Amino acid sequence: MHEFSIAQSMLQIAADQAARHNATRVTKISCRIGVLRHVVPSMLQSAFEIVAAETPAAGAALEIEKQPVTVRCRECETADPSFDWRCNCPSCGSSDVEITGGSELLITRIELETKHDDSKDPDAPQRVWP
Ligand SMILES: [Zn+2]
Repeated sequence: MHEFSIAQSMLQIAADQAARHNATRVTKISCRIGVLRHVVPSMLQSAFEIVAAETPAAGAALEIEKQPVTVRCRECETADPSFDWRCNCPSCGSSDVEITGGSELLITRIELETKHDDSKDPDAPQRVWP
């Protein structure tokens, strides 16, 4: 169940951000997960609840945005989001295709509760997993 490893990494990133901004609590984590990661959102949610228990991120809402697979043809440069990576290019028929999206695993936003202001964005989207 790799959802636990991902949840651990997400918690680590959220805890780092919370410490950097002197936050008392992490209230929400938004992430973007490519479908090629085969992450089951409900399993990630449960795993996160378990790993975040008794941390400042306990009870944080998890917002999971699924990123579809995107493919680009190396021959004719067609990049059609509906074109399936297991198929040949719909324009030129080449099988020399490259997967350009769908394996993302990024935290796009972390909402924190601080003593002074309400929420902060992370400095940049952060990669959760290699
Ligand atoms: Zn092509």
